[in-house]
Order: sequence, then C-alpha cells, then structure tokens
Amino acid sequence: MKNTYIKIISGICVMPLLTACGDHAETVKSADVFAMDTYMNIKAYGRDAEAAVAESEARIYELEQMFSVTNEASDIWSINHGEGQPVTVSEDTVSVLQTAQTMHKESSGALCISLYPVLCAWGFTTGEYRVPTDNEIAKLLKNADDTLISVKDQTARCPENMQIDLGAVAKGYTGDEIMEIMQAHHINSAIINLGGNVQTLGGKPDGSAWTVGITDPFAPDSLIGTVSVTDKAVITSGNYERYFTGEDGVRYWHILDPADGCPADNGLVSVTVIGACGAECDALSTALFVEGTEQALQHWRKSGGFEMILVTSDGELLLTEGIAADYTAKKEMPYRVVQRDDES
Ligand code: ADP
Ligand code: MG
Repeated sequence: MKNTYIKIISGICVMPLLTACGDHAETVKSADVFAMDTYMNIKAYGRDAEAAVAESEARIYELEQMFSVTNEASDIWSINHGEGQPVTVSEDTVSVLQTAQTMHKESSGALCISLYPVLCAWGFTTGEYRVPTDNEIAKLLKNADDTLISVKDQTARCPENMQIDLGAVAKGYTGDEIMEIMQAHHINSAIINLGGNVQTLGGKPDGSAWTVGITDPFAPDSLIGTVSVTDKAVITSGNYERYFTGEDGVRYWHILDPADGCPADNGLVSVTVIGACGAECDALSTALFVEGTEQALQHWRKSGGFEMILVTSDGELLLTEGIAADYTAKKEMPYRVVQRDDES
C-alpha cells in the first residue's frame, strides 16, 4: 500500500532548463522512490532525463524483487529455502554475491552476509527489538559462515541451516546499475540518494562538483561536513541509522560483529567510503565499520581505489589523505588527516 502510494506520487518533475546554445532544451527529471525499505531519490539532467529516470525506477523495483529476503519470489528467498541445493539465480545476484565473497575475504570476515538469523534474533528485520541471550546468539552464530556459500555459473547455494541477506551491499550495486542506465541515455550529470548511499555521475550541469553532506552521527539531523565529488559513490554506514535502546539503557544498532553476534563496537560510529564503484563502497562501509578504527586504517593502506571519512566513538574525525582537500567542515571537532605511509 505504502509502496503503491509512493510510486504514484513519485516526483514527476520535468523542468526545462536553458542551455548555452539556447535551441537545445535540457531537462531535469527527479523521482522519489520507496524501495529496499528506504526512501530514494534519483535526479538526472539531460535531453533524455525522463526516460533515464523511468528506466532507473523500474530497475530499482526489479532488483528489490530479486534481492529481498522476505519476498518468496526473490533469488535470496530461493537460496535461503533451497535446503542446501544449488538454485538458479540472476546475473545480478551472482555479481552481488561475488562482491560479498571478495569483501568477506578482504575484511577477514567482518562482512558476513550469513548473519541474517542473528539479525532476526535482535529484531532488526521486523522492528520488534530485543536483546537475545548469549546462548541464543552462540547457537545461531554456529551457522554463520560465508565461506560455505557457493556461487557457480548461474547458481548459488548455502547450507541447509544458513540464511543470507544482502542488506550491506544491495543498494550500492543498485546505484551502479542506475549509473549504467544514465550513461546509456547519454546523461552526463546525475545524482542519486538511495537511503543515504549517494552516487554521482559527472558533476553538476554547470560543471562544478556535487556537494554531499556527511551526517553527524552524534546529532543525525545535522551535518559534520560536506564533501565535493564528481563521478563517485559516497556511502556511509553508521550506528545511528537503525537502532534501539534496550531496557538496560544501552543503544544497540543494526551492524553486527560476526565475532560475537552483537552490534559492532570497535571504536567507530560512522564510516563513509568514497570511490568509483557503489557495490564495493557499500560492502566496504559495512566491513570497515565492523573492523574498527585501527583495522580500517590498515585495510585502507593496503588497498587502493577508495578514500574514507571515519568518525570515532570518542568524537574524532579521521580523513584519508585523498579526500581531505575535498572536505569542508560544518562543525568544529578534533580531526586528523591520515597518510598512506604514516604507520601511527
Ligand atoms: P545501511 O543499509 O543502513 O545503509 P549498511 O550498508 O552498513 O547500512 O548495511 C547494514 C545492513 O547489513 C544491516 O541492516 C544488515 O541487514 C546487514 N548487516 C549487519 N551486519 C552485517 C555484517 N557484519 N556483514 C554483512 N551484513 C551485515
Ligand atoms: Mg554497506
């Protein structure tokens, strides 16, 4: 019902813009979408913006249907209910599973898509939050092991008592797919926001960089700063995005540490990853959040291709050297620029 309503109101806003040449009518098209359990916005500038945005919307719903953990027609449902047998899945599902498998290895297991039963025990999947007992978590964790997921040709399988979810990676992959659609429609300027995952194509229509806000994890209605980007994904995982406060007064959030099945609390309250590939940045943002400050910095030093904005639980801002010049502070807070060859 909610979905249908939002699809109907989805921002049909086509506005002619004057171009330098005058005779070409450029258009901006923007659409609001509710999918993958979050609010999304897609905005494109160009002669074919309307078709590009319509195709992007359709693609979002198609991918939502494939990746949903609760829709019985989804690939993920088929894998989770495949009783240990390989099931045929789409190329998209194969690709997202491969990204997750690579990141599982690169993060020494911090990204673990087979934690789904543990997430359910905490109520993060339904909103019926509770703190599970240590015993309950220990039993469920025994079945969480991404190395037992196999992806081969067009099939995927996981062991009978395992369940997976793509919450940590699906939106990033979706962003990449939308960028491809935009390019196919010769759009040179687009920005999308998939529930906090921002992805940009080119710069603004005037050629300047896009400005993307970085949420203050300690006051999520405000920003700690902004970052200027072109052709980049800016993807954040934070402890403020989905959480509840237990009867013990403790805050419990939705990113779990596979080491103990509890909310990951390794020194970070927010991790923003900036890079070219949405799927990779999304997988990384969750993995680095779990890894914690020191391991995240080591991970960045040994890999190339992305930059990070970290906020530590004691209120320090860490910027990696490749993004520092593009960051504008909106709030005063202690900060440090991390160099690649600085081992401190
Ligand atoms: P968000 O979806 O809020 O933008 P993330 O990309 O970090 O943030 O994904 C968080 C989601 O990933 C959780 O809601 C859950 O579905 C799943 N998840 C939680 N912990 C892990 C983990 N350690 N590895 C993989 N997926 C996880
Ligand atoms: Mg993520």
